[in-house]
Amino acid sequence: MKQEPKFETIAIKSTENKYSDSTPVSTPIYLSSTYIRNNDGSYTNDFVYSRTNNPNRAIVEESIALLENGKHAFAFSSGMAAVSAVFQSLKTGDNILLPDDIYFAIKKLMEEVFKRWNLSYDMVDMSNIETLKKAIKPNTALIWVESPSNPQLKLSDIAVIAEIAHQNKAICAVDNTWLTPVFQNPLALGADIVVHSTTKYFGGHSDVIGGCVVVNDEIIAEKIKNIQILSGAVPAPFDCWLIARGIQTLKLRIKKQSKNALKLANYLENHPKVEKVLYSRLKSHPQHLLAKKQQKKGFGAMISILIRGNEQDTINISTKLKYFTIATSLGGVESLVEHRKSLEGKGSLTPENLLRISVGIEHIDDLIADWKNALSMNN
Ligand SMILES: *Cc1c(COP(=O)(O)O)cnc(C)c1O
Repeated sequence: MKQEPKFETIAIKSTENKYSDSTPVSTPIYLSSTYIRNNDGSYTNDFVYSRTNNPNRAIVEESIALLENGKHAFAFSSGMAAVSAVFQSLKTGDNILLPDDIYFAIKKLMEEVFKRWNLSYDMVDMSNIETLKKAIKPNTALIWVESPSNPQLKLSDIAVIAEIAHQNKAICAVDNTWLTPVFQNPLALGADIVVHSTTKYFGGHSDVIGGCVVVNDEIIAEKIKNIQILSGAVPAPFDCWLIARGIQTLKLRIKKQSKNALKLANYLENHPKVEKVLYSRLKSHPQHLLAKKQQKKGFGAMISILIRGNEQDTINISTKLKYFTIATSLGGVESLVEHRKSLEGKGSLTPENLLRISVGIEHIDDLIADWKNALSMNN
């Protein structure tokens, strides 16, 4: 005799996924942690379990791989998880060369975590190729490039460094967070790995944390994929959905932001209270020519400035800005300003009179007027 299902069972069965063959224009958020297995053991579309793969993640990965001209992209739950995956793909005893000016948390990650796993590292001035060559050790397995560097906007010649890495049987990874594939394609310049904090320009609205690793080489891809799905630092479907939405306007935003950045940099460079503006679009930047060669399509929207004054004068100026919110991070539609040295804390090599500026999409006249006001009110 057929038994009618009871309340609890109806509650479950009546709410199961019924509309998966509907055709929405915008991608739905696939929260499901698991996928139905067919009677013959197979899976439709290869989705099995969300740590292993998920439609929202697959969309982000395919998109970033295409935009970076890479074969494979792997999304992570943060930029730092993506960086960690690259370090974890090395073997104990390997040596890593890091730029002397680098996103501070990466140096800390090496010092506090990976050193215990017997990975060594050396900080090198990568804007100087001879210095870099001398720093290479027999066990150097990875040269990590950040160009422009954070926060001093030093550039590194990616094509030359990738070649040097390969001559020494090492690989070259580039953190491309600041320029994005809109302005720089490290794989096309010979790099083996591109890393992004998708928290920044890809997301673009300061509302999601994420990271990505892009590679061409199948062996490296296999290693990163294993770390991604077995270590499990994967992004949530909603986070991927936000990043996919951000990607749709990435180029519009960063082009507008870098246009604003250039105008602001020009203004600040001519201000008597500003000692120096660090921005590779300016002729005063020592590597302006390398910037033009390597970042063929643009210069980005991050600027650092050195104030004529001490640490307190510098912090005071940032507090007088109305349209530049004091906050860490970058790449969102809103302008941000940050005194890096006090955030980095112990071990920071950042000058005390440096302010890092993430230029947003506001009207440039308002942004310039804001700085004019803040600089004139100082002391
Ligand atoms: C923010 C950032 C990271 C770290 O990314 P999270 O998403 O914060 O983990 C790495 N590199 C650069 C250049 C960054 O700006």
